[in-house]
Amino acid sequence: MAESFESGGFVNGDSHATKPLNIAIIGGGIGGLSFLLGLLQNANLSVIKPHLYEAAAEFSEIGAGVGFGPNSIQAMGVVSPNLRKRFEEIASDSDEVIDESGKKRAVWNYMLMGMNGRSERCPLKAGDPICKVLFDTFKKNVHRARFLDEIINQLPGGTGDGFVSFKKRCTDIVKLNDGKGVGIQFADGTYVEADAVVGCDGIKSRIRPILMKMIGDEKSINPQFSGKYAYRGLIPMDEAVDALGDTIRHSNMYFGYNGHFVCFPVDKGKTLNVVAFRTKDDGKWESADWVLPATVDEALEDYKEWSEPIKKMVKSLRKPDKWMLFEHPPAESYCDEDGKICLLGDCAHAR
Ligand SMILES: Cc1cc2nc3c(=O)[nH]c(=O)nc-3n(C[C@H](O)[C@H](O)[C@H](O)COP(=O)(O)OP(=O)(O)OC[C@H]3O[C@@H](n4cnc5c(N)ncnc54)[C@H](O)[C@@H]3O)c2cc1C
Repeated sequence: MAESFESGGFVNGDSHATKPLNIAIIGGGIGGLSFLLGLLQNANLSVIKPHLYEAAAEFSEIGAGVGFGPNSIQAMGVVSPNLRKRFEEIASDSDEVIDESGKKRAVWNYMLMGMNGRSERCPLKAGDPICKVLFDTFKKNVHRARFLDEIINQLPGGTGDGFVSFKKRCTDIVKLNDGKGVGIQFADGTYVEADAVVGCDGIKSRIRPILMKMIGDEKSINPQFSGKYAYRGLIPMDEAVDALGDTIRHSNMYFGYNGHFVCFPVDKGKTLNVVAFRTKDDGKWESADWVLPATVDEALEDYKEWSEPIKKMVKSLRKPDKWMLFEHPPAESYCDEDGKICLLGDCAHAR
């Protein structure tokens, strides 16, 4: 049946019956909420009517930082100019330098040694600079929970009332027999129908395996362990400066054997976001739990061969969580053949 958009209405075949296209969004992380906001602020709601279903009782984000490159900042401005404005107000910028040709460049990262080199090929010592990563455009960092709050504040009524349902964990999706849409089943026994569904339910997605089975790409169902884990945490900037000096106020990466540290300021420089990566010796992770509570002693054991300033920073993590890092293999498609189910965000392409 031919379907086309016309101003103010969705025209279905030759019936000219105007009805909105109902889009179900499954999952309200940064991905699902950005998509909802984009539709609410840009689409004609008599043409496209979104509704977001979130498994948890409220929206929430982890206490950590997130860095945005220029593409995502530009996309954010298209989704919502107001959100981009608020983002620019709360984000911490990368440094600016003048390069050898006299051009202004943004420093995305200062790369430094976090421990002594161990061979003639790497004679550098802990703390020595390796290089600077320069770009023409800025990278900006924010506290994740604060950014999520800014998205939520942009929703109608400041909460998304009428467009969001909580405690709705999707358990199954079926295509309707008449080919016109999908049926969505939730863990609480409720069921809704929609014209299409967009899975935004993160790396442990329920929608991804449903879609992969439908398109016959079963090898792409399960996320794979990357062989790395990371301790994540936020440190008051004063403590970080005490450990590593003023250089830590900038975006830095520290390198060593079997690990690296990504450190960047958030909260306009008041807080340091630290992600301490480590290669897992056996390269395997079989448990269903991917985030484990960890102790500082455990983290210090992992970084015992690193420099004293790095160890001092690790001590400041206090209660570091330990994250097993998983990734999805590229799938053959992220959408079923008649465009009723698709994926967005980590459930599509976490890497
Ligand atoms: C160590 C680390 C550092 C990172 N740093 C960066 C960075 O600097 N820059 C960057 O761009 N990215 C970074 N990322 C990646 C980034 O965090 C993710 O890509 C992004 O947060 C994914 O958002 P999402 O909305 O797709 O998924 P999620 O944030 O996982 O949200 C999924 C939502 O779906 C809900 N849900 C789950 N299952 C169901 C269900 N069955 N039914 C209904 N709801 C459901 C969940 O409750 C959740 O609210 C980092 C990731 C890690 C692990």
